[in-house]
Formats: sequence, C-alpha cells, structure tokens
Amino acid sequence: MEYLPNLKLLENANIEIFANQKYPESFINRLEVIFIKQEKHILDFFEISTFRKVRINLFDSKESYINFSSQFSKISSYSLGNCFGGMINYVCISKELEDFYKAGFLIASIVHELVHLIYHEKVSNYHCIWLEEGLAQYLSGQKSFLEADNQKYLTWLEKEIFSKEIPPIDFLKHHGGKYGQFCDCDTNKYNGYDISYALVRFIIESYNHSDIINIIKNQEMIQEIEKDIIEEFKKGTYK
Ligand SMILES: [Zn+2]
Repeated sequence: MEYLPNLKLLENANIEIFANQKYPESFINRLEVIFIKQEKHILDFFEISTFRKVRINLFDSKESYINFSSQFSKISSYSLGNCFGGMINYVCISKELEDFYKAGFLIASIVHELVHLIYHEKVSNYHCIWLEEGLAQYLSGQKSFLEADNQKYLTWLEKEIFSKEIPPIDFLKHHGGKYGQFCDCDTNKYNGYDISYALVRFIIESYNHSDIINIIKNQEMIQEIEKDIIEEFKKGTYK
C-alpha cells in the first residue's frame, strides 16, 4: 500500500502507532493511555470482551493524509480522519499539539474512529449513519463536556439543535456535505453530528442497556425506531 507511514512510534497489545515524523513523547503517551481506557469503555458498552490490535497512522500533513486515503475512496476537503483499511488514519499537525485542548480533541477523534472499527467488525454490518455517528461521539468522549452537567447539555440542545432546523431522519442516512445529506456544509442549517449525538443520547436515556444493545444489533428494530425518533426526541426533551 502506498503512502503508508513507516516510522513506528509505539506498540503494545492494543495499538501500534505509525507516523511519518516524530511527535512529543508526552502526546504519544497521552494517546496510549486514553485509547486503552476508552477502548475498554467501548467494549464494555457493546458487551464484547476483546478486540484486535489496531494500527493508527498519523499523517504530518493534510496532503500526505489525502494521498494515502484517496486510494480507498474520494476524500472530502473537510476530512481529517477515517478508518480505511481497518486502520485509524488521522492528520496530526505538530504545532496544533501545543494546545492541550486541541490535542485532547484529536485523541477523542481517533477514539471516534475506533468506535466505527469495533462496530463494523463486532457489532453489526448494517450501516445506519446517524446511529453510528451518534454512538461514535458518545463513546469516544468527543462531547464529554456535555456529559458531566445536565444543565449544560440542555443549554447546548437549545443553542445547537432547537434553534436550528431539525432535519428529517432521511437526511441523516447518507454521508455527504450537501443540504439533505448528513452534513449540511453548504447552508449550515443543521449539523448531522450534533443531532445524531442528541438522538443517541435520547435513546440511551430512554431504554435500559440490554434493550439498547438488542436494538443496535437488529436492523429491523433500528428501522422501526427511526420512523418516529425525531418526533419522540422533540416530545421527550420538553417533557
Ligand atoms: Zn464517524
């Protein structure tokens, strides 16, 4: 495979990290610790005991990331990461790691891709975009700032979901950047990631865990639930 980074920065039982440049040891250690902790959390959620070793490829430029990723699929200009080839591939610019918060967000984004890998390989081969993207955000800690304090979450819902257009569920079933697709990058009337996160949280808060796992693993149940999920979510949030 072309353009694969070949400098090995770390290997343990869970991950191997490759890059095309060196990164500060403190960042690689932080990535290792959070990755292992979150992987356990994700596996526990899906009731799975183990997962294979995952290769993470860190690219020092958007160009090197696109050169590599284009071998698998057409890459949107907004894309910074994916899990093509069963690996986690991410743009990782050294300068941005100087910001502790940004570095933490990058790590959570890498874990987001891990959720997709585990889901695809161990949970279901039915691809429901809104459900997967909601779970990937919920289980990666990407929106952990909304999980410690419910009032903060309600304020966020008001600002990011209810003051914008709430799209029909069909808009959230196809990846893409146009109005009517998952991300409305052109007009920005809604954000598919935000609404998917809110829908998954609503499901997690409405059902018990074993029901959630049954739903996630069952294509017919997902299709049944998604018929009314937007209406139920609107009603349920203002109860
Ligand atoms: Zn995703």
